[in-house]
Amino acid sequence: MYRTHTCGELRSSNVDQNVTLSGWVQRSRKMGGMTFIDLRDRYGITQLVFNQETDDAALCEKANKLGREFVIRATGEVKERFSKNKELPTGDIEIIVSSFDVLNSSEVPPFTIEDESDGGDDIRMKYRYLDLRRNAVRKNLELRHKMTIETRSFLDKLDFLEVETPMMIKSTPEGARDFVVPSRMNPGEFYALPQSPQMFKQLLMVSGFDRYFQIVKCFRDEDLRADRQPEFTQIDCEMSFVEQEDVLNTFEGLAKHLFKQLKGIDMKEPLPRMSWHDAMKYYGSDKPDTRFGMRFVELTDIAKGKEFAVFNSAEYIGAICAEGCASYTRKQLDALTDFVKRPQIGAKGMVYVRMEQDGTLKSSIDKFYTPEDLKSWADRCGAKPGDLLLILSGDTSKTQKALGELRLEMGSQLGLRDKNNFSCLWVVDFPLLEWDEESQRFFAMHHPFTAPKPEDIPLLDSHPGAVRANAYDMVINGVEVGGGSIRIHDSELQNRMFQILGFTEEKAQAQFGFLMNAFKYGAPPHGGLAFGLDRLVSLFAGLDSIRDCIAFPKNNSGRDVMNDAPSRIDDEQLEELFLTLKPLPVKK
Ligand code: ASP
Repeated sequence: MYRTHTCGELRSSNVDQNVTLSGWVQRSRKMGGMTFIDLRDRYGITQLVFNQETDDAALCEKANKLGREFVIRATGEVKERFSKNKELPTGDIEIIVSSFDVLNSSEVPPFTIEDESDGGDDIRMKYRYLDLRRNAVRKNLELRHKMTIETRSFLDKLDFLEVETPMMIKSTPEGARDFVVPSRMNPGEFYALPQSPQMFKQLLMVSGFDRYFQIVKCFRDEDLRADRQPEFTQIDCEMSFVEQEDVLNTFEGLAKHLFKQLKGIDMKEPLPRMSWHDAMKYYGSDKPDTRFGMRFVELTDIAKGKEFAVFNSAEYIGAICAEGCASYTRKQLDALTDFVKRPQIGAKGMVYVRMEQDGTLKSSIDKFYTPEDLKSWADRCGAKPGDLLLILSGDTSKTQKALGELRLEMGSQLGLRDKNNFSCLWVVDFPLLEWDEESQRFFAMHHPFTAPKPEDIPLLDSHPGAVRANAYDMVINGVEVGGGSIRIHDSELQNRMFQILGFTEEKAQAQFGFLMNAFKYGAPPHGGLAFGLDRLVSLFAGLDSIRDCIAFPKNNSGRDVMNDAPSRIDDEQLEELFLTLKPLPVKK
């Protein structure tokens, strides 16, 4: 028998019991004639004690040879500790060891496996199996486990069926790039890994499954960021005979259930809804962080027409009012200007107006505007003495996006983005289509199966860009945690959509023919959504990167540094797949 208890289990009530524990040596300390060993397993840490004065000398000598991460089995008696450790659940007791054996030795680990590890990111990723022994990482995976269990139980009660869909599918590269897999049995042909089970879940609705969900891996060959991995997990859902309202209500219910079960947060009120248009207008983002206000105030009409050429030539002039920031120094303001001028943000400059404590207004453009002009701006922004207006100008959409970044930066600087504070909302009424300047064509903002709002269908020919979709995103703290839509279930409308997206009939048939055919046999009205599981877990756990809640993540170049994937394959493998490699581009 390896153990009678786990390393996180024993308490004062177990005193005088004879127990056996197995686990890893987290660390050993020698103090006087005593040796203390922290024995660790998934459940906790228990202190083992060897006393040279009272114990067998050979036993103590053997204990002194134990190194970090040795795996041992120890038997002994539970005793009340002389000096208790309030930090540990097992801190009231220790084990006076009578015998132990080494089950396995360990090389010295490349970093210390403790809550505050001395290992950098790269080394911890290379030895991820050791990193996973640390509490911090394991706790995130425990939370992830609970989230999937709670999701399954919630959806099961509502009659959702979990159905698996294939991982090797037809390549339909609309949206992101596909990862592809060559087929040996069909030389020259490729499968794609699914970007999502979108078409399959719609087919399941045609099949009458009514309510489907799946906790499923999805694959997208995109540039990576803190909240993106090449493979990630969705809670993917679809329902039949529903309107947008039904879908929103159902999944608002799931979100509330998860908050209650995992965070103990009771969200009684319905989630606020914001149109995409308002999200852009007031926050410059389709995923507004609504933990704080600082909404945009447009000044275009009152700030134009004076001597200031920058404003006069601008399509849009917008301000945010940063409360209590009039005391910002020149240096702080310069830093903010540098921030908005970063290439990824792209503003040309920033104008500020300070409202001093006595109500006087001072700005970076005093020579162009009278105090009355500035007062009209401050009034519109609702500024109080001590506040600071930050103003950007230029093309509407670019400037709103830049102002959105500035707003987030100010929110962070003012401590308004507390990770323990959750602000959820639905963003609704997305545009159906998005114009792409480069390719001079429309793209589906969500995906090509998203239904236009019925009342906007007449605009499809005249003003396609103005058509709104029955599409929605759930946003929490500025993170898009889920999104979906009501789908087109009519093959004619779907064909029209493909036309607008620039597909020839043959191309649409070749790529989506199976779905179009299925729609000929009675497709019910349907809709759904998918949550990003990794993002949800990260938010709940207060993580900065989704990597920290994935057991074996990839790095920012899409590499698994632990097993060194991707890697070359043998010539024989290439041969079997009828593939030859082009010479690699020379690295600069
Ligand atoms: N398949 C969509 C996505 O991955 C979600 C949905 O529309 O249900 O974004």
